[in-house]
Amino acid sequence: MYGGGTERIVDKSQKRSQTACRIIRQYNREPLSEEDMKKLQEIAEDYRKVKNYVYSRYGSIGSLSKLYPGYTIQNEMTNSGLRSELAMPSVYFYRAVFDALGDIKSQWARTKNKILKLISQNENLNSQEKHYLRFLLKVNNAFEAVLNQKSIELPQEMQGKYAELTTGINPEKLHRYLSRQVRKYHVRTLHTDKADGFYITEKAYRYKESQSSCGGSPYTKGHGIYIATKENRKRVFVPLTDENAYTKQLYIRLLPETNDIEIHIPIEIKVRTHRDYTNEIGLSTGIWCMFTTHEGVVYGEQYGALHQELAEYMSTAAGTYRREKENNAGRKKYLARKARLNAKIESYVNHEINRMIESEKPKVIYLPKLPANSSAGYNRKINYSVGVWRKGLIRERLQQKCLEHSVELVEVFGKGISAECSNCGEMGKYSGDIFRCGRCGYEVDKKVNAARNALKRGQTVLGDDKIDH
Ligand SMILES: [Zn+2]
Repeated sequence: MYGGGTERIVDKSQKRSQTACRIIRQYNREPLSEEDMKKLQEIAEDYRKVKNYVYSRYGSIGSLSKLYPGYTIQNEMTNSGLRSELAMPSVYFYRAVFDALGDIKSQWARTKNKILKLISQNENLNSQEKHYLRFLLKVNNAFEAVLNQKSIELPQEMQGKYAELTTGINPEKLHRYLSRQVRKYHVRTLHTDKADGFYITEKAYRYKESQSSCGGSPYTKGHGIYIATKENRKRVFVPLTDENAYTKQLYIRLLPETNDIEIHIPIEIKVRTHRDYTNEIGLSTGIWCMFTTHEGVVYGEQYGALHQELAEYMSTAAGTYRREKENNAGRKKYLARKARLNAKIESYVNHEINRMIESEKPKVIYLPKLPANSSAGYNRKINYSVGVWRKGLIRERLQQKCLEHSVELVEVFGKGISAECSNCGEMGKYSGDIFRCGRCGYEVDKKVNAARNALKRGQTVLGDDKIDH
């Protein structure tokens, strides 16, 4: 009944690797100058142009043979003249090329997965035909030849196997079938209008260690990052809020409205499995309280209060600025305090998610899906500060923690989840924090009712699934 709305966000059956990727973030300590932001935006804009060029030139079926291992494309891109036309440093140019190629490859992987699924569900194909089609999807050479209507050329050692695979079936018919499916499901038109960031390799950045000889408070020390620009030897220096230095490929996300940047650093971490995590739990989320479980246990009670502290500080400080515009020292102090309050919220969120996972020991977590662009739950009292609330922070962190602890996270259909009675299924009413059902008389905290429904919806859908197969 809710099948269309359920999505397995973290599904351990699909994930066999022992490591997961975690994104660490670094932030600028103070807003960048307009000039520096412009230099970074120039790179992002060129980066976007290169990606779109690669998408349109190599996104089609005809370019499949060039995708692996990609040297041909790299050479063709070198000879394309695009790099000199844009006057783009090679560190950025080739990074953009490989970034776009990665997108094209994932697009093909998605198409192949989709078709694999259709093949196994197709009752008009016998098992040998399915076997042959899976072979075509797995072997790049064969796949590319079929789509481009060329004859399949395989290395010597595979030819015997190929002959065996095609005995008793009609390959031509299956080739036509495969081509049809690809035409139907492959999304060819990759294109990006966004120029809000770029990847950067170690050749294009350098961290500057903090110099204790400068003295003063930690916020006058000069730790930061130098980022190469389009101008030869000219780098933008961005002071950072922490003193960490990494030697990985980074993603530089630009936030030009506020002249801020975010640096994303991918970190590999080990995935842990816990044999004693066997519970299935339903959760509801809120902006004051992070989580309420279907049994009424609450985590992250301080969440809203911490945000309010930040919001109040920011609105008071904004008033002070208007009065004394030239107060630079005051501004620095303000930014430092704001960064500390933000960091406090993040570490609180992490702490409470860890505490929830350790005490609930979940095997599966069911969570209501949020409607897109929802502002539900924001009441008038806190409206002025809603902009400060970090949308998506909790979900993003929860997703990550579930991945790291092999917990399955399932989003269930969220519509009406607080209004439906979790005891009898009738639509009830709530006043304040209490839900009441007019039919069965069930009375419970609104959040607990929603969490109970999340559990119920999740388990119902999975139950239906099991019957289907
Ligand atoms: Zn009821």
